[in-house]
Amino acid sequence: MKLDLDRSPRGRSELPLTGTVELDWQADRASSVSLSGSLLVDNLEGRVLVSGALQARGSAVCTRCLEPFDLHWDVDVSCMVLRDTSSDEGADDSMVISQRDGLVDLREILRESAILAYPQQTVCDPQCRGLCAGCGHNLNREACTCEAPQHDPRWDALP
Ligand SMILES: [Zn+2]
Ligand SMILES: [Zn+2]
Repeated sequence: MKLDLDRSPRGRSELPLTGTVELDWQADRASSVSLSGSLLVDNLEGRVLVSGALQARGSAVCTRCLEPFDLHWDVDVSCMVLRDTSSDEGADDSMVISQRDGLVDLREILRESAILAYPQQTVCDPQCRGLCAGCGHNLNREACTCEAPQHDPRWDALP
């Protein structure tokens, strides 16, 4: 997943990208993620802008039923390669790479972008019924025999 500065034409071009990034973070989230799609490259004087959205796919754990499933999400990418390496513009910005020529490795930027775009809630299906709080059964697969919570008569004494 590299951008070849030496072969990147002037102006706008398309950069097809396919590959896998390791997110290496929380165990219940997708870690080995395949990215595919293509980004737009704007090759301007002294700087190259890379932007667009890629499709990400990885195995995640449903936050409701705790079953693994195939998660898909869109990853917005926006980064800049500064070819005027004498400038310290963007030196503390992780989405800026300073490099004059050659192959630019986009892997770290794609990894960060995939993490930023990761969905807050990952459920296997919007209709997922999750686990029973009483017996822990997966309610998508089996009916639960727990009864509704008992009415606690002690509260009746309160005003
Ligand atoms: Zn689920
Ligand atoms: Zn139950």
